[in-house]
Amino acid sequence: KVLRVALMGLGGYAKRVAEAMKDCKRAKVTGLISGTPEKLKEWGALYNVPEKNRYNYQNFDSIKNNPDIDAVYVITPNSLHHNHTIRAARAGKHVICEKPMAISVKEGQEMVEACKKAGVHLLVGYRMRFEPHTLEAVRMRKEGELGAIKFFQGLSGFRIGNPNQWRLNKELAGGGALMDIGIYAINGCRYMVGEEPIWVTAQETKTDPVKFKAGVDETILFQFGFKSGATASCLSTYNMNYLDRFFLNGERGFIEMQPATGYGPIRARSNKGEINAPVVVHQTVQIDEMAAIILDGKKPEIPVDGEVGLQDLRIIEAIYKAVETGKKIPL
Ligand code: NAD
Repeated sequence: KVLRVALMGLGGYAKRVAEAMKDCKRAKVTGLISGTPEKLKEWGALYNVPEKNRYNYQNFDSIKNNPDIDAVYVITPNSLHHNHTIRAARAGKHVICEKPMAISVKEGQEMVEACKKAGVHLLVGYRMRFEPHTLEAVRMRKEGELGAIKFFQGLSGFRIGNPNQWRLNKELAGGGALMDIGIYAINGCRYMVGEEPIWVTAQETKTDPVKFKAGVDETILFQFGFKSGATASCLSTYNMNYLDRFFLNGERGFIEMQPATGYGPIRARSNKGEINAPVVVHQTVQIDEMAAIILDGKKPEIPVDGEVGLQDLRIIEAIYKAVETGKKIPL
């Protein structure tokens, strides 16, 4: 059985997903949702999606009556995920939603509840949670090869271009670099350390208040503490390139990853040497694995459900609160 997926929001990342899905064994694109008729036509021809399976944002609720579609993959700007996910769930379709799953804890909670009520899966597009080097690093940590974990460092950033894009618009993005790219350090910290943070402190710096308006963060440094006594130090930024590095230190060893989350080959090494794992197209593996979760009830090595996405939002809100108050915020 194959998971039949409707892609919603035919932008840059959806394109990458659609291309990667050509190689999926357990999933295929059978539907499209877009506000641009020309895109529906073009993508429809390109990915073999018949006209009856093409929708816009006004009429997509009627996807309910379409037996060719099992799931909707929401790949729209962040603040739209809430409405789009809830409507897909009400139409009885499983939802894969891109990160960040929403722009507030409240919205995230409503999405989790809507999917629960509709009896559909809600999975968040955390592709790294299926990536082989990442899984190997997590296996090593779980099996005690590093000893007790003491410290994690997560650095996530890129230099953002066009000042008019939705990523720099508070209403659509919900924030700045932290929502978009800092979330990789947050999410990564959780699977690398294997614990949830219990407190956070954070500091913001802004060099360009014209490009990065109020509510759109350019650079935030944040620190976590864990119950075990481990700590973490992270950086989220929109003002430098090549910033994609994880470092995990335990009593008996370390793991370093760079690039840690980019699309290209992930590179990882430990105190014992290079970590060799298959180089894969992240989205192909992610969607095949998500199909297995939805269709077979498979339990993933590292979870990717709505609760995982919601916890990232709780942490993000706490980081923004720490920035605002200058205080240590308990989680
Ligand atoms: P994008 O700008 O390339 O695409 C967004 C699409 O949404 C466009 O086609 C746009 O037309 C459409 N859209 C619908 N309603 C809109 C509205 N009201 N305003 C603006 N655009 C609207 O962005 P993207 O890079 O594809 O990002 C989309 C989502 O995917 C974001 O949530 C982003 O965080 C996520 N993403 C995830 C990854 C990943 O690796 N997991 C990578 C990139 C993006």
